[in-house]
Amino acid sequence: MDLGIAGKWALVCGSSKGLGLGCAKALVQEGVNVLMVARGEEQLQLSASKLIADYAGSTGASVLFCAQDITTEAGRAAVFAMRGDFDIVVTNAGGPPPGDFRDWDRDAWIKAVDANMLTPIDLIKATVDAMAQRGFGRIVNITSSSVKAPIDVLGLSNGARSGLTGFVAGVARTSLAAQGVTINNLLPGVFDTDRIKAVLEGNAKKTGQSVEALADARRKTIPARRFGNPDEFGAICAFLCSMQAGYINGQNVLADGGAYPGTY
Ligand code: NAP
Repeated sequence: MDLGIAGKWALVCGSSKGLGLGCAKALVQEGVNVLMVARGEEQLQLSASKLIADYAGSTGASVLFCAQDITTEAGRAAVFAMRGDFDIVVTNAGGPPPGDFRDWDRDAWIKAVDANMLTPIDLIKATVDAMAQRGFGRIVNITSSSVKAPIDVLGLSNGARSGLTGFVAGVARTSLAAQGVTINNLLPGVFDTDRIKAVLEGNAKKTGQSVEALADARRKTIPARRFGNPDEFGAICAFLCSMQAGYINGQNVLADGGAYPGTY
């Protein structure tokens, strides 16, 4: 299916690896021009070069990159100095650390809220009015399945991302909707990325079990009996950004292999 978005410009945050890279890859495969953002320049440049080598030639898409911390005002200013207007914005940054809520002080909460709530809101604010004027816009926020089914040790994530989810539910239904702008959240369950590897390695050290044994136990909790892969996540993101998805707005789209046990 031709998604009808070739030639559009996308900002894809947190895209040197993992889910963000999966989204950037799927968009470039559709001929979308992409500006990739992450903090570490070396990995970002490697990933951008690979997308250019593998897909840009055949699709004609441009791939730019900007090594910045998207959760800072200075980082966002540097990104928008590189390019001001985007038709598509995928918001993403690292998730907050796990822990016990008794140990989190105000600074820990502010950091989580900044990264996982206020940064996406700022990116939405910076881009949606110009999208509306052009009559087309797609925002996809990478959040987490923990918004629907909270994970006890991820209280910082549960709280901050729920704040973003509430904001999106409101703003997606404003007059922007009639001007061709959709704003949706894409909720990963367990995907095979460095983040999950780090979580499993941390648990292995704590429990003395092997990483593979812990990964197997985790897979058994998922009806699909496997972790998701970033390419399939990227394909869902690209579809949410497509012309065909213009009537999907204000939704929380869960990709978790059936792990969430609820009816709705
Ligand atoms: P990942 O493999 O660790 O990749 C994270 C990407 O974001 C990297 O490119 C990283 O590069 C970049 N990044 C992190 N902080 C950034 C910042 N402040 N500014 C700019 N770029 C930043 O993680 P992932 O698994 O793809 O996860 C992406 C998001 O989904 C996270 O918020 C995570 O909590 C959430 N999530 C993931 C899963 C899963 O199963 N993977 C499940 C639920 C939720 P640099 O470090 O170089 O900046």
